Amino acid sequence: MNEEQLLHQEIEASRNRLGKKLLILGHHYQRDEVILHADLLGDSFQLSSAASELVTGNYLDCESIVFCGVHFMAETADILANSPENLQHRGGRRVNVLMPDDRAGCPMADMASWDAVLRCRNLLSQIIDVDDLVPVAYVNSSAELKAFCGVYGGIACTSGNARSVLDRAFSQKRRVLFFPDQHLGRNTAVEMGIPETAMSLWTDNAPEYGGNTAETIRNSKMILWDGFCCIHQRIQTEWVDAVRKEHPEIRVIVHPECPREIVIRADESGSTSQILRRITQSPPGTKWAVGTESRFVERLARQNPDKTVVDLSPMNYCRSMSLTNLDNLSKLLRSVESGTPYNIISVDESIAPDALICLRRMLQCR
Ligand code: SF4
Repeated sequence: MNEEQLLHQEIEASRNRLGKKLLILGHHYQRDEVILHADLLGDSFQLSSAASELVTGNYLDCESIVFCGVHFMAETADILANSPENLQHRGGRRVNVLMPDDRAGCPMADMASWDAVLRCRNLLSQIIDVDDLVPVAYVNSSAELKAFCGVYGGIACTSGNARSVLDRAFSQKRRVLFFPDQHLGRNTAVEMGIPETAMSLWTDNAPEYGGNTAETIRNSKMILWDGFCCIHQRIQTEWVDAVRKEHPEIRVIVHPECPREIVIRADESGSTSQILRRITQSPPGTKWAVGTESRFVERLARQNPDKTVVDLSPMNYCRSMSLTNLDNLSKLLRSVESGTPYNIISVDESIAPDALICLRRMLQCR
């Protein structure tokens, strides 16, 4: 038996011994060998909301959620799984949310912080009515930014419900401050008919108002934080043109974290689960070029052998997602078994209630 087989065996043995005391969640961008051991596979939103529901349902005895994903996802799972209602349901018992490698952060989530967004809001208050502005945090953000939204009448969104979240925000207020991903904000707003001339890009600490004049801000309905996902931002327009040249009948589908010029060139855009559904449900023989994280695209191609699935940006792996592997998963499970768990992600009680308010608003928007 080689080392990898041994690790698989050890992980399975730990899972069997821990039974329903353990729930392993795996994000679509995780390594295949890690996904094999997940009780549930999904995107960040599906996994976090499942964490919340399962630990009061099928996994009522759950004591530990091992989150194979990145830091903000584990934080969201902790907030939802240990909400006051869930705690009451379990007689006050907390569920530990753990990560095999707690260095797995999301670079995009780290591009905005409470202090920086508050600085932005304070500057904006000099030139516009900030009570007429809704802060919207993409779920790929830290718990503190979700708490910021909870405090300032804002809401979180996913890439799947961004449109309905923005519809709701604009039905209540005149402007939106969207962070940290500028591309999801811009792509969704354009789809809603908001022209790019009514958007401004905010850069923390840039001159004047985040690099904008007061007039530009006053004319903006959407103020976009200048964050981005390096994986989706890397995709080039020439790659879309090249795949179309090679396969004239191919349909191009991309994630809305891609820059606007990529989404314009694509036939469709959608969240990870929407891309999965779209391709899985398409007729045999269909040809797709997919613009998102490569581990997910490679898996899609293998799971749909009756279709052609081409990766628009081959080998475009998220480095943070890649940090979780069989070795650190196996070690973490052993620590859980021995009662000495580590890498516990616990959102500070000073922000968890406000972050929960923001997440609940998000969950209401389908
Ligand atoms: Fe963050 Fe992008 Fe990696 Fe997702 S793919 S975890 S958004 S860096």
